[in-house]
Amino acid sequence: MEALMKSLCEAYGPSGEEKEIRALIENAVKDSVDRIYTDNLGNLLAVREGPEPALLLSAHMDEIGVIVTHIDENGFLRIAPVGGVAPHLLLGQRLRFKNGAVGTVYHEKLKELRDLDWSKLYLDLGAGSAAEAKNVAQIGDMACLHQPFDSLNGRYMAKALDDRVGCAILIETARRLAGAPLPQAICFLFSVQEEVGLRGATTAAYSIQPGYGLAVDVTRAGDTPKAPLMEVSLGKGPAIKVKDSSVICSPKVRRFMMEVASQHEIPYQLEVLERGGTDAGAIHLSRGGVPTGALSIPCRYIHTASEMVDAADIQNAVKLLEILCRTSWSEGVS
Ligand SMILES: [Zn+2]
Repeated sequence: MEALMKSLCEAYGPSGEEKEIRALIENAVKDSVDRIYTDNLGNLLAVREGPEPALLLSAHMDEIGVIVTHIDENGFLRIAPVGGVAPHLLLGQRLRFKNGAVGTVYHEKLKELRDLDWSKLYLDLGAGSAAEAKNVAQIGDMACLHQPFDSLNGRYMAKALDDRVGCAILIETARRLAGAPLPQAICFLFSVQEEVGLRGATTAAYSIQPGYGLAVDVTRAGDTPKAPLMEVSLGKGPAIKVKDSSVICSPKVRRFMMEVASQHEIPYQLEVLERGGTDAGAIHLSRGGVPTGALSIPCRYIHTASEMVDAADIQNAVKLLEILCRTSWSEGVS
């Protein structure tokens, strides 16, 4: 699973530019499902047939990034965020375009660092002129963070663990379920454009019409020095979401998840995320409403070049998800 996570995290895929990451995921999951297709927005849907209503599992493929807004006569690029990117977290970072071109971000002269905003940032591709820069990048091209995946003492550090870790968990779950009879159909959704407003999950949930939904994504951890209060730590188990800014999870789904975890002695935490959302926000509002939950991987430094998660939390998330898929939701969620 580590090799899978490395390839997923290092792949290019800002919101709306998911072609490369989608191909990787399709290759990794296609042999474990009955059918796989890409929809109009670019969502990848991998389906295990079974009794209806179906269970929709969602993890988003896209990652945060930047988009080129202006190229000056000396070849420096101006950029704007794609998703929730803080300008100060980009200083000195390398960014990579789809064509492999790499640049670094710095700022104009500032009186004070707190004056830093997007208008003061530029991206340097090493170009000597506008023409040279335009050979490499055009207005509207997107770049993502450029960082290797690292394995530390039982923890992983990479860009885009949000939410490639969720994608890896769905792929691994599909592999473990391959060939086994299931109590319900399962649709593994690898969604697009989550970081710009849960857009892929919105249309996918509408067309799939699932009976139940479950998003798998990262959540904040409160276990770093003087961190804002947050009752979630790395290594204490995946988190069963109670609420974030996009969803109040179905109490029935939450109770079901907690019961299954307890029965199988899988550690878990409860998550209240005060700011932030996930695909569950879109799925639960689809059509007449869908009972939806979310399973979160505790993650430090979300939306930076060095997000960090715990390997045991990932293993426990896969364990729980596999059992949840093998259990009847129409009987369990009541
Ligand atoms: Zn996410």
